[in-house]
Amino acid sequence: MRLLTLLLLFAQAPAPALEPIPDKLVVLTFDDASRSHVEVAAPLLKRHGFGATFFVTEGFDFPTNKRDYMTWDEIARLHRDGFEIGNHTRDHKAPDAQDAKGTIEQIEAVDARCREHGIPRPVSFAYPGNALDRDVLPLLKGLGIRFARRGGAPEHPYEAGRGFAYEPGLDHPLLIPSAGDARPAWTLDDFKRAVSQARDGRIAVIQLHGVPDTAHSWVDTPTPLFESYVRHLADEGYRVIALRDLARYVDPDAVPADPWAVIEARRHRLSTGLDATADRP
Ligand SMILES: [Zn+2]
Repeated sequence: MRLLTLLLLFAQAPAPALEPIPDKLVVLTFDDASRSHVEVAAPLLKRHGFGATFFVTEGFDFPTNKRDYMTWDEIARLHRDGFEIGNHTRDHKAPDAQDAKGTIEQIEAVDARCREHGIPRPVSFAYPGNALDRDVLPLLKGLGIRFARRGGAPEHPYEAGRGFAYEPGLDHPLLIPSAGDARPAWTLDDFKRAVSQARDGRIAVIQLHGVPDTAHSWVDTPTPLFESYVRHLADEGYRVIALRDLARYVDPDAVPADPWAVIEARRHRLSTGLDATADRP
């Protein structure tokens, strides 16, 4: 009888064991379907065996401007090359719980495009404009989203592109902060500061746009600078993955009771002048 109970217990626990989070675990994410993603980023990352997520949208003048933006065929090629295609909404529109119908339409439109081009339904999402809505998480989950990336705000102001590493257990998987959000004025030191937070169970999720970004100058990363970032990751032995690959280390269904508590705690620490990325035990 006791053996049977044990067997039943095991039968009810089908979840695969999660791997411990290693130090130097970095997620690279690229937003807005810049042409440079297929021409510059993907070939370089592939040479190093690095993964990445490309968050696509048909917003801006994506449908007509094929000088600055990828075609869907090129996006499909990124998928076939092993990269993840993530959802960044059809019109680059922030999800809004007050407009559930519109939000669902925005996300399902990208899902449909992916289906047409042989790309799996995205399980990762990036908030357009890094704009957050406290009530939108159930909506995203209902649309099959497992991980969603935000910017470095509200803890840090937008301008400098600073952020915090993702702390599984404290950060909600649908509110994953950017540890760094690359800016044109960044140097290699800014990038190093962002990725060096990837230790002690924390994961550095980096937000990039075009490399270069020929359409959005305010988030441009010149190619040589991007190459120096990738070289740093390779030289220092970082493990570089796509956002979806977090499922090896993190259970997306394990959510904190209050997803905003960690954000408030970091804001408090910053307001008291402590660098909350450096003062942990
Ligand atoms: Zn965007």
